[in-house]
Amino acid sequence: GGAAEPPPKLVLDLERLANVPSDKAGPLQRYTATIQSQRGDYNGKVLSIRQDDLRTLAVIYDQSPSVLTEQLISWGVLGADARRAVQVDEG
Ligand code: C2E
Ligand code: C2E
Ligand code: C2E
Repeated sequence: GGAAEPPPKLVLDLERLANVPSDKAGPLQRYTATIQSQRGDYNGKVLSIRQDDLRTLAVIYDQSPSVLTEQLISWGVLGADARRAVQVDEG
């Protein structure tokens, strides 16, 4: 505890996500499509998601949030700043 700064916003790059092979990114592609549909937010190049969504996605991918975050950063779907969201969560 004791983090002075708020967690960074988790902003997914949807154009990068669309270019990741769906055998890897399929679950995340379906998850983001569902959020876009529920919000009526169809035309964005990026999508801000909840901190809780990262935990949910980690369950879907059967990985820890920090390992999943590294994967998303390596795909270019999340910025490196997202690491701090996981540190806040796990700290
Ligand atoms: P909900 O969770 O009952 O939220 C209802 C409305 O409250 C949202 O309608 C939105 O106008 C507002 N709202 C809730 N949380 C936030 C927030 O953190 N920031 C902002 N700016 N507004 C917030 P909206 O956007 O039409 O979404 C409808 C429903 O779609 C939500 O109902 C929720 O069930 C789902 N949803 C939308 N975006 C997300 C998301 O990023 N993650 C998840 N897990 N569900 C989402
Ligand atoms: P920001 O959060 O830094 O977002 C910058 C820009 O990224 C937004 O410009 C928008 O073009 C894009 N963006 C970010 N998240 C999403 C998303 O989930 N869907 C889509 N379609 N685009 C997204 P925009 O819309 O002109 O907003 C400028 C700033 O206004 C935002 O900066 C934020 O500070 C504020 N803002 C806009 N909408 C909301 C909101 O629903 N909740 C809160 N708290 N702030 C908002
Ligand atoms: P944001 O809109 O700037 O909201 C920042 C944080 O304020 C959210 O982080 C959440 O902790 C809190 N918050 C804002 N509005 C609500 C609300 O209506 N209900 C509750 N329970 N908390 C609220 P969080 O959840 O990590 O979401 C991060 C960003 O994801 C939001 O930034 C927003 O850009 C987007 N987002 C999340 N849920 C929704 C949603 O339902 N609809 C839309 N349009 N955007 C959402």
